[in-house]
Amino acid sequence: MLRQVSSQIDPLLFEIRRTFRNLQQTCTEALFCTSSMSAEAVGARAGSPIKVSLTDSAGRGVFTTRNIGSGELIHTAKPLLTHPSLALSDQVCCYCLKKLDKDGSSGIFSSLKGEDGTSYCFCSEECRDVSKACCEVESKADWSLYHDHCRAKGLKYPLMVKRFACMVISGAASADDLGILQPARLLPGAVSQMEEEFELLKRTLLKAQIDERLTGFLTKQWYMGVLARIRINAFRIELVAASYKDLLVSATASVAAQAAVGNALYMLPSFYNHDCDPNTHIVWIDSAFAKLKALRHIEEGEELRICYLDASLDCAARQKLLSEGFGFHCRCFRCLSHD
Ligand SMILES: [Zn+2]
Ligand SMILES: [Zn+2]
Repeated sequence: MLRQVSSQIDPLLFEIRRTFRNLQQTCTEALFCTSSMSAEAVGARAGSPIKVSLTDSAGRGVFTTRNIGSGELIHTAKPLLTHPSLALSDQVCCYCLKKLDKDGSSGIFSSLKGEDGTSYCFCSEECRDVSKACCEVESKADWSLYHDHCRAKGLKYPLMVKRFACMVISGAASADDLGILQPARLLPGAVSQMEEEFELLKRTLLKAQIDERLTGFLTKQWYMGVLARIRINAFRIELVAASYKDLLVSATASVAAQAAVGNALYMLPSFYNHDCDPNTHIVWIDSAFAKLKALRHIEEGEELRICYLDASLDCAARQKLLSEGFGFHCRCFRCLSHD
């Protein structure tokens, strides 16, 4: 009886929460409609020396509001959405992707076992609280087939769409929260593969008996829209140090990134445009909390740009990757001088 009552109340609560989130979203969008946005409006901490404005040729961009010294930490960014590499689900924090050292200082704070045996581990109370609702939904389903599909095809972005869908179902996000990010152009060949993934996702959630009123947003069009945005805005997270000890070692040696621990999506870092000779870089020390640092002295009002790929590639290789992966032809100073 009690169970029945709670299953009737839950969708209602979710609906109220979702309506509230939609209202918040409308307010955020109103902010984004202005030609220049302060750092706070795009989620950076008050006092961050940046603003988002329109550029002459590349849409929105991030600009400095004061001079910045070489090596200065410009701002940090909290991920909106993360997913660990499939092989590491029991070794990294489910939310911040921090490596979990079972006997060291960064141990497991708490964990959850999924229906399919997947571990959802959290490194701290904060990480657990941020992602608990979503992981509770996600852990109810058996993702074996979906994960096998991603593993066989070497796909990582459908995992992020799956997590985002669970965030929406749990009320932790609104279905259109990523609408503000620029989508990738999807090639016709990719569409049939996405249809297959979408069907698999929908079937998995259906089998887990998630209330259909909570999955009403899950249409093929929604899936493709979210995937298209994740595809060009997600960052592959490579940590430079798993612990303070590692950081000391890597400070003396060259800072070599380890293999990816997962992928993450951010709001503000997604507004940074690309340059093959960037003035800013994005680094991850021990978790998916990103640090944006100045690579050289930057003048007030200058646009901050990061490099989307390995800057040591030659001009033709960079152009090919940027045009195929991000859909633009780079016209930075290096590319114009065929460097
Ligand atoms: Zn964490
Ligand atoms: Zn370039």
